[in-house]
Amino acid sequence: MKLQHNISLKPYHNFACDEKTQFFTTIKRQDEIINVANWSKENKKPFLILGAGTNVLFTQNFEGLIAKMEIVGIKKLEELATEVFLEVGAGENWHHFVMYCIQKGWGGIENLSLIPGTVGASPIQNIGAYGVEVANCIHSVNAYDTQSNTWINFNKAACLFDYRTSLFKQTNNRYIIHTVTFKLQKQASIKTDYGVIREVLHDKNIKHPSISDISNAIIQIRSQKLPNPKLLPNAGSFFKNPCITKLQYEILKAKFPELIAHPISDESYKVAAGWLIAACDWKGVTHGQVGCYENQALIIINYGTNSGNEIFVFSEAIKKLIHEKFGITLETEVNVL
Ligand SMILES: Cc1cc2nc3c(=O)[nH]c(=O)nc-3n(C[C@H](O)[C@H](O)[C@H](O)COP(=O)(O)OP(=O)(O)OC[C@H]3O[C@@H](n4cnc5c(N)ncnc54)[C@H](O)[C@@H]3O)c2cc1C
Repeated sequence: MKLQHNISLKPYHNFACDEKTQFFTTIKRQDEIINVANWSKENKKPFLILGAGTNVLFTQNFEGLIAKMEIVGIKKLEELATEVFLEVGAGENWHHFVMYCIQKGWGGIENLSLIPGTVGASPIQNIGAYGVEVANCIHSVNAYDTQSNTWINFNKAACLFDYRTSLFKQTNNRYIIHTVTFKLQKQASIKTDYGVIREVLHDKNIKHPSISDISNAIIQIRSQKLPNPKLLPNAGSFFKNPCITKLQYEILKAKFPELIAHPISDESYKVAAGWLIAACDWKGVTHGQVGCYENQALIIINYGTNSGNEIFVFSEAIKKLIHEKFGITLETEVNVL
Protein backbone atom coordinates (compact mmCIF):
# COMPACT_ATOMS: atom_id res chain seq x y z
CA MET A 1 0.00 0.00 0.00
CA LYS A 2 1.44 3.36 -1.06
CA LEU A 3 1.13 5.90 1.74
CA GLN A 4 1.50 9.65 1.46
CA HIS A 5 2.25 11.67 4.60
CA ASN A 6 0.86 14.91 5.93
CA ILE A 7 -1.47 15.65 3.02
CA SER A 8 -3.86 18.62 2.80
CA LEU A 9 -7.49 17.53 2.41
CA LYS A 10 -8.37 20.71 0.51
CA PRO A 11 -8.62 19.05 -2.95
CA TYR A 12 -10.46 16.02 -1.63
CA HIS A 13 -13.66 17.46 -0.17
CA ASN A 14 -16.29 19.99 -1.19
CA PHE A 15 -15.85 22.43 1.69
CA ALA A 16 -12.22 22.73 0.56
CA CYS A 17 -10.81 23.66 3.98
CA ASP A 18 -7.14 23.05 4.68
CA GLU A 19 -7.20 20.37 7.39
CA LYS A 20 -4.58 17.69 6.92
CA THR A 21 -4.48 13.93 7.16
CA GLN A 22 -1.47 12.17 8.69
CA PHE A 23 -1.61 9.43 6.03
CA PHE A 24 -3.38 9.20 2.67
CA THR A 25 -3.83 6.41 0.13
CA THR A 26 -6.15 5.33 -2.66
CA ILE A 27 -8.11 2.08 -3.06
CA LYS A 28 -8.24 0.80 -6.62
CA ARG A 29 -8.67 -2.95 -6.01
CA GLN A 30 -10.70 -5.11 -3.64
CA ASP A 31 -7.63 -6.45 -1.73
CA GLU A 32 -6.57 -2.88 -0.94
CA ILE A 33 -9.67 -2.57 1.23
CA ILE A 34 -8.27 -5.31 3.49
CA ASN A 35 -4.85 -3.59 3.51
CA VAL A 36 -6.43 -0.38 4.83
CA ALA A 37 -8.30 -2.23 7.59
CA ASN A 38 -5.18 -4.19 8.59
CA TRP A 39 -2.97 -1.10 8.57
CA SER A 40 -5.42 0.62 10.91
CA LYS A 41 -5.35 -2.31 13.37
CA GLU A 42 -1.57 -2.79 13.24
CA ASN A 43 -0.83 0.92 13.69
CA LYS A 44 -3.67 1.51 16.18
CA LYS A 45 -4.82 4.52 14.19
CA PRO A 46 -8.26 5.27 12.76
CA PHE A 47 -9.03 5.07 9.05
CA LEU A 48 -11.65 6.85 7.00
CA ILE A 49 -12.91 5.96 3.53
CA LEU A 50 -13.50 9.00 1.36
CA GLY A 51 -15.60 8.96 -1.79
CA ALA A 52 -15.83 12.26 -3.66
CA GLY A 53 -15.88 14.17 -0.35
CA THR A 54 -19.17 15.93 -1.15
CA ASN A 55 -20.77 15.18 2.22
CA VAL A 56 -18.01 15.56 4.81
CA LEU A 57 -16.74 18.41 6.97
CA PHE A 58 -13.30 18.10 8.56
CA THR A 59 -13.11 20.23 11.70
CA GLN A 60 -9.56 19.18 12.62
CA ASN A 61 -6.57 17.36 11.21
CA PHE A 62 -7.14 13.61 10.79
CA GLU A 63 -4.62 11.65 12.86
CA GLY A 64 -4.88 8.42 10.90
CA LEU A 65 -5.28 7.10 7.36
CA ILE A 66 -7.69 8.50 4.78
CA ALA A 67 -8.28 6.12 1.89
CA LYS A 68 -9.95 7.49 -1.23
CA MET A 69 -12.23 4.93 -2.85
CA GLU A 70 -11.43 4.53 -6.57
CA ILE A 71 -12.75 1.05 -7.41
CA VAL A 72 -14.68 1.43 -10.66
CA GLY A 73 -16.61 -0.81 -13.05
CA ILE A 74 -20.21 -1.56 -14.02
CA LYS A 75 -20.95 -5.26 -14.51
CA LYS A 76 -24.25 -6.66 -15.79
CA LEU A 77 -25.00 -9.68 -13.59
CA GLU A 78 -28.35 -10.69 -15.07
CA GLU A 79 -30.92 -9.41 -17.56
CA LEU A 80 -34.50 -10.66 -17.33
CA ALA A 81 -37.56 -9.75 -19.37
CA THR A 82 -38.46 -6.80 -17.14
CA GLU A 83 -35.39 -6.04 -15.03
CA VAL A 84 -31.62 -5.92 -15.01
CA PHE A 85 -29.11 -6.45 -12.19
CA LEU A 86 -25.91 -4.37 -12.20
CA GLU A 87 -22.94 -4.63 -9.86
CA VAL A 88 -21.15 -1.29 -9.60
CA GLY A 89 -17.76 -0.40 -8.07
CA ALA A 90 -17.91 1.89 -5.02
CA GLY A 91 -15.68 4.50 -6.64
CA GLU A 92 -17.85 5.03 -9.73
CA ASN A 93 -19.20 8.55 -10.09
CA TRP A 94 -22.90 8.47 -9.17
CA HIS A 95 -24.16 10.79 -11.90
CA HIS A 96 -22.15 9.00 -14.60
CA PHE A 97 -23.75 5.75 -13.48
CA VAL A 98 -27.23 7.33 -13.68
CA MET A 99 -26.45 8.59 -17.21
CA TYR A 100 -25.19 5.12 -18.23
CA CYS A 101 -28.47 3.53 -17.08
CA ILE A 102 -30.62 6.14 -18.82
CA GLN A 103 -28.71 5.62 -22.05
CA LYS A 104 -29.45 1.89 -21.81
CA GLY A 105 -33.13 2.59 -21.04
CA TRP A 106 -32.97 1.12 -17.52
CA GLY A 107 -35.10 3.09 -15.09
CA GLY A 108 -35.42 3.66 -11.37
CA ILE A 109 -32.68 6.16 -10.50
CA GLU A 110 -33.39 8.93 -13.03
CA ASN A 111 -34.88 11.17 -10.28
CA LEU A 112 -31.45 11.01 -8.57
CA SER A 113 -29.67 12.62 -11.53
CA LEU A 114 -26.89 15.09 -10.74
CA ILE A 115 -26.51 14.12 -7.06
CA PRO A 116 -22.77 14.50 -6.49
CA GLY A 117 -20.62 11.73 -5.04
CA THR A 118 -19.76 8.09 -5.57
CA VAL A 119 -21.86 4.95 -5.95
CA GLY A 120 -20.30 3.48 -2.78
CA ALA A 121 -21.53 6.38 -0.65
CA SER A 122 -25.07 6.27 -2.08
CA PRO A 123 -26.41 3.57 0.31
CA ILE A 124 -24.73 5.15 3.36
CA GLN A 125 -27.18 8.00 3.75
CA ASN A 126 -29.70 6.42 1.34
CA ILE A 127 -29.48 9.36 -1.05
CA GLY A 128 -32.80 10.72 -2.16
CA ALA A 129 -34.39 13.46 -4.21
CA TYR A 130 -37.66 14.28 -5.97
CA GLY A 131 -39.67 11.47 -4.38
CA VAL A 132 -37.11 8.66 -4.89
CA GLU A 133 -34.57 7.08 -2.54
CA VAL A 134 -31.71 4.93 -3.80
CA ALA A 135 -32.91 2.13 -1.49
CA ASN A 136 -35.81 1.61 -3.95
CA CYS A 137 -33.33 0.26 -6.50
CA ILE A 138 -30.66 -1.41 -4.36
CA HIS A 139 -30.62 -5.19 -4.44
CA SER A 140 -27.58 -5.73 -2.19
CA VAL A 141 -24.37 -4.15 -0.89
CA ASN A 142 -21.04 -5.95 -0.68
CA ALA A 143 -18.84 -4.66 2.14
CA TYR A 144 -15.84 -5.62 4.27
CA ASP A 145 -16.61 -5.89 7.97
CA THR A 146 -13.57 -4.42 9.71
CA GLN A 147 -14.64 -5.98 13.04
CA SER A 148 -15.01 -9.62 11.96
CA ASN A 149 -12.55 -9.30 9.02
CA THR A 150 -15.06 -10.89 6.64
CA TRP A 151 -16.83 -9.93 3.43
CA ILE A 152 -20.59 -9.59 3.83
CA ASN A 153 -23.24 -9.36 1.14
CA PHE A 154 -26.07 -7.35 2.70
CA ASN A 155 -29.46 -7.83 1.09
CA LYS A 156 -31.69 -4.78 0.97
CA ALA A 157 -33.53 -5.60 4.23
CA ALA A 158 -30.21 -6.02 6.08
CA CYS A 159 -29.13 -2.51 5.01
CA LEU A 160 -31.79 -1.00 7.35
CA PHE A 161 -32.51 1.87 4.98
CA ASP A 162 -34.48 4.81 6.31
CA TYR A 163 -34.68 8.57 5.66
CA ARG A 164 -31.03 9.65 5.00
CA THR A 165 -29.64 6.74 6.97
CA SER A 166 -28.78 3.03 6.88
CA LEU A 167 -26.92 0.33 8.79
CA PHE A 168 -23.68 1.71 7.30
CA LYS A 169 -24.27 5.22 8.63
CA GLN A 170 -25.35 3.96 12.05
CA THR A 171 -22.33 1.70 12.55
CA ASN A 172 -19.92 4.55 11.91
CA ASN A 173 -17.11 3.31 9.66
CA ARG A 174 -17.35 -0.40 10.55
CA TYR A 175 -18.06 -1.47 6.95
CA ILE A 176 -16.10 -0.57 3.82
CA ILE A 177 -18.39 -0.72 0.82
CA HIS A 178 -16.84 -2.47 -2.18
CA THR A 179 -19.73 -2.79 -4.66
CA VAL A 180 -23.44 -2.01 -4.81
CA THR A 181 -25.84 -4.20 -6.82
CA PHE A 182 -28.83 -2.41 -8.35
CA LYS A 183 -32.09 -3.84 -9.69
CA LEU A 184 -33.36 -1.56 -12.45
CA GLN A 185 -36.54 -1.71 -14.51
CA LYS A 186 -36.74 -2.04 -18.27
CA GLN A 187 -40.28 -0.60 -18.22
CA ALA A 188 -39.76 2.03 -15.55
CA SER A 189 -42.68 3.68 -13.81
CA ILE A 190 -42.18 7.41 -14.14
CA LYS A 191 -42.32 9.49 -10.94
CA THR A 192 -43.46 13.07 -11.37
CA ASP A 193 -44.96 13.61 -7.91
CA TYR A 194 -43.07 16.88 -7.50
CA GLY A 195 -44.90 19.86 -9.00
CA VAL A 196 -41.66 21.43 -10.18
CA ILE A 197 -40.93 18.40 -12.41
CA ARG A 198 -44.42 18.59 -13.92
CA GLU A 199 -43.93 22.32 -14.56
CA VAL A 200 -40.70 21.76 -16.49
CA LEU A 201 -42.29 18.95 -18.53
CA HIS A 202 -45.31 21.16 -19.21
CA ASP A 203 -43.08 24.04 -20.38
CA LYS A 204 -41.38 21.63 -22.79
CA ASN A 205 -44.76 20.28 -23.92
CA ILE A 206 -43.80 16.73 -22.92
CA LYS A 207 -46.96 14.74 -22.22
CA HIS A 208 -45.57 11.21 -21.97
CA PRO A 209 -42.11 11.61 -20.43
CA SER A 210 -39.39 9.00 -20.78
CA ILE A 211 -36.75 8.40 -18.08
CA SER A 212 -34.47 10.61 -20.14
CA ASP A 213 -37.03 13.46 -20.06
CA ILE A 214 -37.31 13.14 -16.28
CA SER A 215 -33.54 13.17 -15.90
CA ASN A 216 -33.18 16.26 -18.13
CA ALA A 217 -35.90 18.06 -16.17
CA ILE A 218 -34.18 17.29 -12.88
CA ILE A 219 -30.78 18.34 -14.20
CA GLN A 220 -32.33 21.64 -15.27
CA ILE A 221 -34.03 22.18 -11.89
CA ARG A 222 -30.94 21.27 -9.86
CA SER A 223 -28.60 23.37 -12.01
CA GLN A 224 -30.79 26.43 -11.45
CA LYS A 225 -31.45 25.83 -7.76
CA LEU A 226 -28.19 24.57 -6.27
CA PRO A 227 -24.91 26.47 -5.90
CA ASN A 228 -21.98 25.11 -7.89
CA PRO A 229 -19.59 23.66 -5.26
CA LYS A 230 -16.58 24.63 -7.39
CA LEU A 231 -17.55 28.30 -7.13
CA LEU A 232 -19.34 28.27 -3.77
CA PRO A 233 -17.97 25.34 -1.71
CA ASN A 234 -20.82 23.48 -0.01
CA ALA A 235 -22.00 19.98 0.86
CA GLY A 236 -25.66 20.28 -0.15
CA SER A 237 -28.25 20.20 2.65
CA PHE A 238 -26.35 20.63 5.88
CA PHE A 239 -29.22 19.37 8.09
CA LYS A 240 -31.89 16.69 7.71
CA ASN A 241 -35.51 17.75 7.55
CA PRO A 242 -36.66 17.09 11.13
CA CYS A 243 -39.58 14.79 11.95
CA ILE A 244 -42.03 15.99 14.58
CA THR A 245 -45.20 14.56 16.13
CA LYS A 246 -48.62 15.54 14.84
CA LEU A 247 -49.30 17.42 18.09
CA GLN A 248 -46.02 19.39 17.77
CA TYR A 249 -46.97 20.15 14.17
CA GLU A 250 -50.42 21.44 15.13
CA ILE A 251 -49.00 23.70 17.85
CA LEU A 252 -46.32 25.09 15.51
CA LYS A 253 -48.73 25.54 12.60
CA ALA A 254 -51.06 27.58 14.83
CA LYS A 255 -48.13 29.82 15.79
CA PHE A 256 -46.46 29.92 12.36
CA PRO A 257 -49.19 29.48 9.70
CA GLU A 258 -46.62 29.51 6.89
CA LEU A 259 -44.72 26.51 8.27
CA ILE A 260 -43.81 24.06 5.48
CA ALA A 261 -44.26 20.43 6.51
CA HIS A 262 -45.85 17.30 5.14
CA PRO A 263 -47.27 14.22 6.83
CA ILE A 264 -45.15 11.07 6.75
CA SER A 265 -47.55 8.95 8.82
CA ASP A 266 -50.77 9.43 10.78
CA GLU A 267 -48.72 10.56 13.75
CA SER A 268 -45.72 12.45 12.34
CA TYR A 269 -44.70 15.27 10.01
CA LYS A 270 -41.48 16.13 8.23
CA VAL A 271 -40.63 19.84 8.43
CA ALA A 272 -38.62 21.71 5.79
CA ALA A 273 -35.39 22.59 7.64
CA GLY A 274 -34.67 25.29 5.04
CA TRP A 275 -37.97 27.00 5.93
CA LEU A 276 -37.11 26.94 9.66
CA ILE A 277 -33.74 28.63 9.01
CA ALA A 278 -35.23 31.16 6.60
CA ALA A 279 -37.96 31.93 9.16
CA CYS A 280 -35.18 33.02 11.54
CA ASP A 281 -34.08 35.47 8.82
CA TRP A 282 -30.83 33.58 8.23
CA LYS A 283 -31.19 33.11 4.48
CA GLY A 284 -28.12 34.80 3.01
CA VAL A 285 -26.66 35.59 6.44
CA THR A 286 -22.87 35.34 6.75
CA HIS A 287 -20.59 35.26 9.79
CA GLY A 288 -17.00 35.86 8.83
CA GLN A 289 -16.41 33.68 5.76
CA VAL A 290 -19.30 31.27 6.28
CA GLY A 291 -22.93 31.77 5.40
CA CYS A 292 -26.34 30.36 4.46
CA TYR A 293 -26.90 30.32 0.71
CA GLU A 294 -29.08 33.24 -0.40
CA ASN A 295 -31.47 31.02 -2.40
CA GLN A 296 -31.68 28.06 0.01
CA ALA A 297 -30.90 28.55 3.70
CA LEU A 298 -30.32 24.83 4.25
CA ILE A 299 -27.06 25.01 2.31
CA ILE A 300 -24.03 26.36 4.19
CA ILE A 301 -21.40 27.99 1.98
CA ASN A 302 -17.70 28.40 2.62
CA TYR A 303 -16.94 31.90 1.34
CA GLY A 304 -13.20 31.55 1.91
CA THR A 305 -12.23 30.08 5.26
CA ASN A 306 -9.60 27.36 5.51
CA SER A 307 -11.00 26.25 8.85
CA GLY A 308 -13.67 23.53 8.88
CA ASN A 309 -14.23 24.37 12.51
CA GLU A 310 -15.47 27.85 11.54
CA ILE A 311 -18.14 26.15 9.40
CA PHE A 312 -19.02 23.82 12.25
CA VAL A 313 -19.38 26.73 14.73
CA PHE A 314 -21.72 28.46 12.25
CA SER A 315 -23.82 25.30 11.91
CA GLU A 316 -24.08 24.98 15.70
CA ALA A 317 -25.33 28.59 15.88
CA ILE A 318 -28.13 27.63 13.46
CA LYS A 319 -29.06 24.62 15.58
CA LYS A 320 -29.27 26.81 18.70
CA LEU A 321 -31.41 29.37 16.91
CA ILE A 322 -33.88 26.78 15.63
CA HIS A 323 -34.13 25.14 19.03
CA GLU A 324 -34.82 28.45 20.75
CA LYS A 325 -37.46 29.58 18.25
CA PHE A 326 -39.23 26.30 17.41
CA GLY A 327 -38.17 23.79 20.09
CA ILE A 328 -36.86 21.54 17.29
CA THR A 329 -33.41 19.92 17.40
CA LEU A 330 -31.85 19.85 13.93
CA GLU A 331 -29.81 16.78 13.06
CA THR A 332 -26.72 17.25 10.88
CA GLU A 333 -26.83 15.42 7.53
CA VAL A 334 -23.20 16.14 6.63
CA ASN A 335 -20.60 13.81 8.21
CA VAL A 336 -18.69 16.02 10.66
CA LEU A 337 -15.22 14.73 11.53
C1 LIG B 1 -24.60 20.35 -4.25
C2 LIG B 1 -24.96 19.09 -3.51
C3 LIG B 1 -26.21 18.53 -3.64
C4 LIG B 1 -26.56 17.36 -2.96
N1 LIG B 1 -27.82 16.85 -3.15
C5 LIG B 1 -28.17 15.72 -2.49
C6 LIG B 1 -29.49 15.18 -2.67
O1 LIG B 1 -30.30 15.69 -3.42
N2 LIG B 1 -29.80 14.06 -1.98
C7 LIG B 1 -28.91 13.43 -1.16
O2 LIG B 1 -29.27 12.40 -0.55
N3 LIG B 1 -27.65 13.93 -0.98
C8 LIG B 1 -27.26 15.04 -1.63
N4 LIG B 1 -26.01 15.55 -1.45
C9 LIG B 1 -25.07 14.86 -0.55
C10 LIG B 1 -24.06 13.92 -1.28
O3 LIG B 1 -24.14 14.09 -2.65
C11 LIG B 1 -24.32 12.45 -0.94
O4 LIG B 1 -24.29 12.26 0.45
C12 LIG B 1 -23.30 11.51 -1.61
O5 LIG B 1 -23.76 10.19 -1.49
C13 LIG B 1 -21.90 11.62 -0.98
O6 LIG B 1 -21.00 10.87 -1.79
P1 LIG B 1 -19.44 11.02 -1.63
O7 LIG B 1 -18.80 10.00 -2.48
O8 LIG B 1 -19.03 12.41 -1.89
O9 LIG B 1 -19.25 10.67 -0.10
P2 LIG B 1 -18.17 11.32 0.90
O10 LIG B 1 -18.59 12.72 1.19
O11 LIG B 1 -16.80 11.09 0.41
O12 LIG B 1 -18.43 10.41 2.18
C14 LIG B 1 -19.65 10.47 2.88
C15 LIG B 1 -19.60 9.42 4.01
O13 LIG B 1 -19.59 8.12 3.45
C16 LIG B 1 -18.42 7.39 3.85
N5 LIG B 1 -18.01 6.59 2.69
C17 LIG B 1 -17.86 7.02 1.40
N6 LIG B 1 -17.59 5.98 0.59
C18 LIG B 1 -17.54 4.88 1.37
C19 LIG B 1 -17.31 3.48 1.11
N7 LIG B 1 -17.05 3.02 -0.11
N8 LIG B 1 -17.34 2.61 2.17
C20 LIG B 1 -17.60 3.06 3.42
N9 LIG B 1 -17.83 4.35 3.73
C21 LIG B 1 -17.80 5.25 2.70
C22 LIG B 1 -17.42 8.45 4.27
O14 LIG B 1 -16.49 7.96 5.22
C23 LIG B 1 -18.32 9.53 4.87
O15 LIG B 1 -18.67 9.19 6.19
C24 LIG B 1 -25.62 16.73 -2.12
C25 LIG B 1 -24.33 17.27 -1.99
C26 LIG B 1 -24.00 18.44 -2.68
C27 LIG B 1 -22.63 19.00 -2.53
